Amino acid sequence: MNEMFRVAVIEGDGIGPEVLAAARVILEKVLSKYGLSIEVKHVEAGDVAVSKYGEALPESSWNIIKTCDAILKGPVGESAGEVVVKIRRGLDLYANIRPAKTFPGVKALKPGIDLVIVRENTEDVYIRAEYMLTDGVSVALRLVTKRASERIARKAFELARSRRRKVTVVHKANVLTVTDGLFKRVVYDVGKSFPGVEVDEMYIDAAVMDLVRRPEKFDVIVTTNLYGDILSDLAAYVTGSIGLAASANIGDEKAMFEPIHGAAFDIAGKGVANPTAMMLATAWMLKWLGERGGGRRYVEAGEAIEKAIENVLSEGKVLTPDLGGTAKTIEFTEAVALRL
Ligand code: ATP
Repeated sequence: MNEMFRVAVIEGDGIGPEVLAAARVILEKVLSKYGLSIEVKHVEAGDVAVSKYGEALPESSWNIIKTCDAILKGPVGESAGEVVVKIRRGLDLYANIRPAKTFPGVKALKPGIDLVIVRENTEDVYIRAEYMLTDGVSVALRLVTKRASERIARKAFELARSRRRKVTVVHKANVLTVTDGLFKRVVYDVGKSFPGVEVDEMYIDAAVMDLVRRPEKFDVIVTTNLYGDILSDLAAYVTGSIGLAASANIGDEKAMFEPIHGAAFDIAGKGVANPTAMMLATAWMLKWLGERGGGRRYVEAGEAIEKAIENVLSEGKVLTPDLGGTAKTIEFTEAVALRL
């Protein structure tokens, strides 16, 4: 059993420091209650680092991040891409996992949604190989490899095994017969090693429609990078507020946990940001550390945070303005802390 984990914390920009402060209150509470040992290392990154050092993720920050087991990242502003891509690539965090779930008490487009999007995080058009061939003619390359498709498919099936045992592979193999054709084939092949999990497939255009029309039918969606990017924002929207959704970037050794939402500069400094997504990211990190050798107490601490948040949301008395309430970030945080 690992007795001391190191966690790098990036405050981020805009509402980042506010939602992270809220998450820290909750983290401190469970650290003592469940006897967890986590060493928190503060790391400068994002717009704040650009103005101070001229780069979004300075060498000094990267050197700390490299030594940590996990990263808890607040939303970053303009330089978000730079920070996230460098960490994802540097630590090979190949799986972007984005759950979308409705909470009782929170108005959603549809009730009863509980799905997870497993998005390949390293390939597709995100290799950024775009060229201007001649004046007025441009081309972009798309990378899909067997190796990357296999490892993301395996993550999806492992996840489905602990859920409702269904994986939907989303693609457009009728048009992109070679690249999406390979991805789809690999997912079915990997699926043979998971006999208890059902596999089906959907074209991306049909999947976006069904995500709005009947999202409750999905369990785990596995897809390539670009489709996953688009699908996961839509999924966050149909479940209610963007302030409720967390995501993880997971590799074989390390992982980074963050809210889906951005820095939301329009409400920064007003004390009204919804810290739920940041708290859920924290809970997820604890559960992951538990599975990485921390043991049952870490998992229980993560579950307790999730339960406390669900209780506060379903009671509907202390809600932030994005959910139709009048509570400040601090009031919501206190309400969650009280239920821990
Ligand atoms: P980015 O461009 O990085 O995605 P953004 O701030 O433009 O960042 P989002 O983070 O997607 O976009 O947020 C869109 C809007 O949703 C924000 O402007 C804000 O009003 C609202 N919002 C986002 N996160 C929260 C939150 N945690 N609590 C309350 N409102 C939020």
